[in-house]
Amino acid sequence: MKKVRMIKYTKPYLIMIFIAIGLLYAQANFNLTLPDYLSKIVNVGIQQGGVEDAVPEAIQEIEMNRTLLFLTPENQTDVLNAYKLVNNGTTEANQYIDKYPVLINQSVYVLTHTDSATITHLNPIMARALLNVAFVELLMANDTLLNSTNTLLGLSLPGNGTDLFEYFETNPMGPYSKMVIMAVVTSQLNALGDKFIIQAATQVVRAEYEALGMDLNQLQLNYLLYYGGLMILLTILSMACTIAVSYLSAKIATGIARDMRRDIFKKIEKFSSAEFDSFSTASLITRSTNDITQVQMAVMMIVRMVFYAPIIGIGGVIHAIELAPTMWWIIAMAVGVLLGLILVVFYIALPKFKSIQRLVDRLNLVARESLTGIMVVRAFNKQQYEEGRFDKANIDLTKVSLFINRVMVIMMPLMMMLMNVLTIVIIWVGSHEIANANLQVGDMIAFMQYAIQVAFAFLMLSLMFIILPRASVSISRIAEVLKTDIVIQDAENPKLFTEPFKGTIEFRNVSFRYAGAPEDALHNISFTAHSGEVTAFIGPTGSGKSTLINLVPRFYDVTSGAILIDGIDVREVSQHDLRDKIGFVPQKDVLFSGTVESNLLFADENASEEELKYAIQTAQITDFVDAKSEGIATEIAQGGTNVSGGQKQRFAIARALVKKAPINILDDSFSNLDFKTDVALRKALRKSISASTVLIVTQRVSTIKNADQIIVINEGRIVGKGTHVELMETCPIYKDIAISQLKLEELL
Ligand code: ADP
Ligand code: MG
Repeated sequence: MKKVRMIKYTKPYLIMIFIAIGLLYAQANFNLTLPDYLSKIVNVGIQQGGVEDAVPEAIQEIEMNRTLLFLTPENQTDVLNAYKLVNNGTTEANQYIDKYPVLINQSVYVLTHTDSATITHLNPIMARALLNVAFVELLMANDTLLNSTNTLLGLSLPGNGTDLFEYFETNPMGPYSKMVIMAVVTSQLNALGDKFIIQAATQVVRAEYEALGMDLNQLQLNYLLYYGGLMILLTILSMACTIAVSYLSAKIATGIARDMRRDIFKKIEKFSSAEFDSFSTASLITRSTNDITQVQMAVMMIVRMVFYAPIIGIGGVIHAIELAPTMWWIIAMAVGVLLGLILVVFYIALPKFKSIQRLVDRLNLVARESLTGIMVVRAFNKQQYEEGRFDKANIDLTKVSLFINRVMVIMMPLMMMLMNVLTIVIIWVGSHEIANANLQVGDMIAFMQYAIQVAFAFLMLSLMFIILPRASVSISRIAEVLKTDIVIQDAENPKLFTEPFKGTIEFRNVSFRYAGAPEDALHNISFTAHSGEVTAFIGPTGSGKSTLINLVPRFYDVTSGAILIDGIDVREVSQHDLRDKIGFVPQKDVLFSGTVESNLLFADENASEEELKYAIQTAQITDFVDAKSEGIATEIAQGGTNVSGGQKQRFAIARALVKKAPINILDDSFSNLDFKTDVALRKALRKSISASTVLIVTQRVSTIKNADQIIVINEGRIVGKGTHVELMETCPIYKDIAISQLKLEELL
């Protein structure tokens, strides 16, 4: 249920979510490429002087010929195919002379196939051959080395600057000597990997570039600038992704929050009194504000992290292991320790995280209760008690928050320490690997960065465990409201009232029980109220009078029996049509913040000024309105707190009058009025609503003495029905009430 609802709310934002995922994927890739480039800068840019490959972009003809000596015929063809010979003195040579100044007196092979497939293929081949050439050249230049090599290998290579390459081809011992030297050099090299052979050969390539007359510093600088520039570009792109994703995630999260709030509000507006009874107003407000904020935050985090962390985590592991396959266990260890740490923290802190939402609720409840009831609290001198209650809630919340923060405070340095230990282990193990020529320096640095990225990915995911439990509590609280079944629904095909509408109300054997109550509040109520007549209800408090009249506008539905208006069951017409016919003055008057005018227009926004004036006059509030300089534009405070109880009642009556409904229901609407106003109001009312069906609830016999029908209610039952005179004869309860209220002469 919970999940389905969540998913429903993400639907309008699916496109945005996919864009965000795409951006995060791009960002993760940018961030995963950065250490690779850094490794290149260290390995190639710094250590290899900017020379990346063992395949030189140009090579002197004599060097090429020497190199070819150390290649198989097949490889010779491959190499020669990749190059073209540029002879010195030709027009073609002029093209290249700026780049390779040696072309003035030397022919040069220029690399024409620069595609990466060719380079990858030729790299190990050229590297070995070039290193062989370099070794022979070293022998030619160093007689001591030559002599010891001769002794060691049992050769008789001539010294004193003899061209050994010529010797290999012309001397009868030449081919044999070449084979021996090749075998020795190759066996030495094969102990390293291709990567290191190529790295070693780049030094030979560098020497060749120098011989060609190239600017080596420029070469190195160009390399550094190129990859440095790329790194800056990637960083900027990654930043742009971050900004875009933040924007999108905020938009998605606030959008979802807005939709949820709208739905909650819509739902609550449909709530009948029964549903309001089951949720407290405070709780409904918390649910539509605080809880939704929790969900909003969670959505934002989910969009930003849940998709990013796995890409970085998995990608980081793959890249790191590619760089240093022997060091995978370091990352595994780090992740293991990290997970352990996180698990321990959650084991300690998770229950507290969950309880926070409950404590916030409690704090809200206590604060709301003591603020709305501030007058009562003061009147009973209970400030201290209330303060104590608030303090307790406040201290509880503070304690949990402090605890969580303390755990976090310990967690942070531990995490930092873990990262530092990770770095040290990588450098320790890495430096040994470097010494054994298993790892390049740049690759170790990149490995370190990947390891840290992976660790952070796990940290990010663990953050989710903090947010999700809180959010899931909030989601279920929201879902609870949204999935509440509304008891009072319109019929499938609502009927219409017959015209002309009369407004005869008939209760037919009506019983009613509040949800969860042990017994019925109303038992078997039957009566008929006619149009043009006043039907009054009287009885002790708690006897069920308000309950009874609340059934007419369907604030609640009857438990058994039926209420008919003009012969149609109130459940068969639409709630809108039904309430359209009813002017209602509730027992608990409610005014809205605004002006006198806006409160009256609430009943009928098209009411004319004349009609408003008439209602004001009838309700006996002309004096109040006239006394104010602003007249009907006088401000009414929130909840109508700036008018007295009696004034509020009269405003509520005026509002009902503006509606000019054919049925008027007044629930104890005169209780706060002084006797004189009561009489005047009743007189005026009789004139203005005498044509309608009037239901009046009251405690005062004087109010209803002239009613056409008086119904006496006691303990949810009708115990008397008739006019004042009749009831004085037949109904002892009525008589008791009347005697206690009316002066003797009024009884007669
Ligand atoms: P009256 O208006 O005659 O003073 P009510 O109709 O307000 O009496 O109340 C009748 C009975 O129903 C009382 O016992 C009261 O406790 C109970 N009651 C009123 N409102 C509710 C409610 N929302 N939920 C449960 N019981 C209620
Ligand atoms: Mg009542």
